[in-house]
Amino acid sequence: GDILKKRKIAVLGSRSVGKSSLVIQFTENQFIESYYPTIENTFSKSVNYKGVDYDCDIIDTAGQGKDEYSILNSKHAIGIHGFVLVYSVTSRNSFDMIQIVYDKIVNFCGIKEIPCVIVGSKIDLSQRGSRQVQPTEGEGLARANHAAWVETSAKNNINVAKVFELCLAEIERQAPTKAEP
Ligand code: GDP
Repeated sequence: GDILKKRKIAVLGSRSVGKSSLVIQFTENQFIESYYPTIENTFSKSVNYKGVDYDCDIIDTAGQGKDEYSILNSKHAIGIHGFVLVYSVTSRNSFDMIQIVYDKIVNFCGIKEIPCVIVGSKIDLSQRGSRQVQPTEGEGLARANHAAWVETSAKNNINVAKVFELCLAEIERQAPTKAEP
């Protein structure tokens, strides 16, 4: 059909967990080893998910997130349909930050749940003994917050598209749009 749904997705998390790499792998199909943007970027991509075309604006909050105070700028919680919260499986600190950021978004939005995908990034590095966060921990955190969860590698393009499919699914699950006639 001619249905085109606009969806705004914000990608948040500690600095250098791989937010930009994830978004660039998804929207441009490439991995840039040293990409250090200092400004926020919005990327657009059309996604067909379950027969529906979605026009996605993906807001990469790169360059921010030195601490929990700067991770969530209030503008990242306004007009956003879904959230992708990224930690690195090689960083315990980045994992601990996820619940803090989740709670801040929920408080800001004044609702109990938000459409959200929690992402454990850089799994290609876990084979080299750098893993600090176990899959069961990520899964447990997601379950406790009624969020989806997936582990990814932007470098090897593992589960990157899955992140955004899960996000669209969470958005639909929490605010199902009526079928058009
Ligand atoms: P951001 O600050 O969260 O946007 O993080 P970046 O996307 O800039 O990534 C930070 C660093 O981690 C860069 O050197 C990336 O090349 C690296 N990186 C990002 N994703 C991956 C990944 O999946 N695997 C590996 N090995 N490195 C990654």
